[in-house]
Amino acid sequence: MSPHRFKTMGEQAGRRSWAEPWKIKMVEPIHMTSRAEREKAIAEAGYNTFLLRSEDVYIDLLTDSGTSAMSDRQWAGMMLGDEAYAGSVNFYHLEQAIQQYYGYPYMVPTHQGRGAEHLISQALIKKGQYVPGNMYFTTTRLHQELAGGIFVDVIIEEAHDPEALHPFKGNIDLNKLEDLIKKQGAENIAYVSLAGTVNMAGGQPVSMANVKELRQLCDKYSILLLLDATRMVENAYFIQTSEEGYADKTVAEILLEFCSYTDGAWMSGKKDHLVNIGGWLAVRDEGLFDELRNLVVVYEGLHTYGGMAGRDMEAMAIGIRESVQDDHIRARVGQVLYLGQLLIDWDIPIVRPVGGHAIFLDARRFYPHIQQDEFPSQMLAAQLYLDSGIRSMERGIVSAGRDPKTGQHRYPKLELTRLTIPRRVYTEAHMDVVAESVLEVYQNRTKTKGLKMVYEPTRLRFFQARFEPL
Ligand SMILES: *Cc1c(COP(=O)(O)O)cnc(C)c1O
Repeated sequence: MSPHRFKTMGEQAGRRSWAEPWKIKMVEPIHMTSRAEREKAIAEAGYNTFLLRSEDVYIDLLTDSGTSAMSDRQWAGMMLGDEAYAGSVNFYHLEQAIQQYYGYPYMVPTHQGRGAEHLISQALIKKGQYVPGNMYFTTTRLHQELAGGIFVDVIIEEAHDPEALHPFKGNIDLNKLEDLIKKQGAENIAYVSLAGTVNMAGGQPVSMANVKELRQLCDKYSILLLLDATRMVENAYFIQTSEEGYADKTVAEILLEFCSYTDGAWMSGKKDHLVNIGGWLAVRDEGLFDELRNLVVVYEGLHTYGGMAGRDMEAMAIGIRESVQDDHIRARVGQVLYLGQLLIDWDIPIVRPVGGHAIFLDARRFYPHIQQDEFPSQMLAAQLYLDSGIRSMERGIVSAGRDPKTGQHRYPKLELTRLTIPRRVYTEAHMDVVAESVLEVYQNRTKTKGLKMVYEPTRLRFFQARFEPL
């Protein structure tokens, strides 16, 4: 098979192509390293791509978190920072953008998403209460557990199957949720923790029908429904393209409707909002807001900056408006689908359907001869780096961590390596280079062996763990 561009996106889809809705004004040079340099770098990093230096990386697909390219307008906004300790004008711009596009009346800024997760978990979870959610996210679950909560996964079964072609694999299984409520009692459920485009399931969206039904179920038992809105704009795009009745609505309209079924949301602005830092927490209830506004001063900063500089709040307010434009989000998700389609055409095992922010290589099918506790996804990330200097991330047994009760590894069904596409940063040619490198590593797969963990931090171990080849 000779890996080169076969067809344009438009040809593949039987229509005319579209292009990114921006042109490039400033560039950042990147350079390719030699294989010998990469061998040294990955060994020094303990075979953990989180521990590589960014200057040793050619195409950086570690994460889409805080890696977006800002627009000229956002950079102009940075110059309008009102760095007052209290009541910065930029706070009011941000508040207004959140009210307009997400519909929540009350908001506190936080330094990033996990700051917001910390506050909401502390405010709402009593020790021993359950927090059901659609799969889990690393920092979200940890803050829920640190607050004394017990996380329970109530996502639909299809989400655990990397080949199930369900269009909304992020949906909550309402029967699983109701069973839990009946078994434990509604008073023992802190809140339902719903995430848009579920990261750990492969960037899989939640349907509008699901959130509507979820709202009814939560009302029936008087349980709060809270949203991880981090990638909700991408979720809205999938509703527009795949759910009946939404093709003629704008992404902004869909986003607002979806949020209207929830009681509040936390946000990592480093994702959808096209900025490099920041987050927020927003709710509808004034009493809860009062508590959050009090907590934010303790952990983040005054309620009108919450860990962010004025200039950062301004860039975020502008980023929110840009992020909900239909042509932006179509190009953003379209680039992910483009890379995914190349890999599908070459029969490389990836999670399907392709999600909104990343391609997830299925390490189980990639390396069937490597046992899960020999870290196949971690090794796959290392191999991609060795081949081409592309940086990806493990999302499997290392990320899943250990069970707090038994101390044993959690063995997740999904053993994945994530290639995450930053927003507005790379071109289609970069995607071609990435696809060709994945193909090369795939063709050499039978020669690859697993890893052993030689250093393991106690919390969120995937960030700092170190490995050696077996
Ligand atoms: C990144 C992320 C978070 C945490 O946000 P940070 O800004 O990294 O602290 C929470 N939930 C989801 C779904 C995320 O992707």
